[in-house]
Amino acid sequence: MIDAGGGNGIFDGLARTGHNATDITRLVITHVHTDHLLGAVWLLRHLVKLDIDGVLNQERLAIYGNRDVTSALIEICRLTFLPSYFDRIERVASIATIVPGDTLSLASATVKFIDCHSRNVNQTGVRISLHDDMSTSIVCLGDEALTEHNANEAADADWLICGAFCRYADRDIFRPYEKHHHTVIDVARHAADAHVRNLVLIHCEDRNICERSALYAAESSAVYSGQLYVPVDGDSIAIV
Ligand SMILES: [Zn+2]
Repeated sequence: MIDAGGGNGIFDGLARTGHNATDITRLVITHVHTDHLLGAVWLLRHLVKLDIDGVLNQERLAIYGNRDVTSALIEICRLTFLPSYFDRIERVASIATIVPGDTLSLASATVKFIDCHSRNVNQTGVRISLHDDMSTSIVCLGDEALTEHNANEAADADWLICGAFCRYADRDIFRPYEKHHHTVIDVARHAADAHVRNLVLIHCEDRNICERSALYAAESSAVYSGQLYVPVDGDSIAIV
């Protein structure tokens, strides 16, 4: 799983996809912002409770994040858990600090951590190479946009998941550039240059949820000919 959401909504989110908390074996947290990190606090607390009750039947959850992420996660747990809960964390989870360039070899994929070159927070994404017939590659930049600073990391990706805050046409409404955010056409232009085949935009404004996919596709189509997705919570996308 990549990122944990902002709180106990992680459990509803998992349930909507037919999973529960103990199905997660590996969790990458891209950056320290609350809407990505705090769900991991709830997840750890839940696993510790299951362990105390003697009903946790899974290998330890492996959590990966950059130094800012792992130190914040441990500190929030230390400050908010009962000492008896905090002391059990290492029974239920390993929390590993990673740096860009580190890799994980899994049975079904290789995961390489990449620097998102974010200008407002230390953000570490992943490039996942699936060991399927197509050697499908999936790049996730957390909520950072694809920019001239990180476009190399997404070169030739089959799938790119990244932030785009709103349409360029709506820049005066949402003022993305003031917040180090980028617009759909900015990202689409870099995606075209990087030969990205499928683009999944997240961390978007939520005023146009019903029309967003069509509006964003229309704006990007002038510069990008791949598939564009603007999912909402609970959507599934077939990647092969
Ligand atoms: Zn963020």
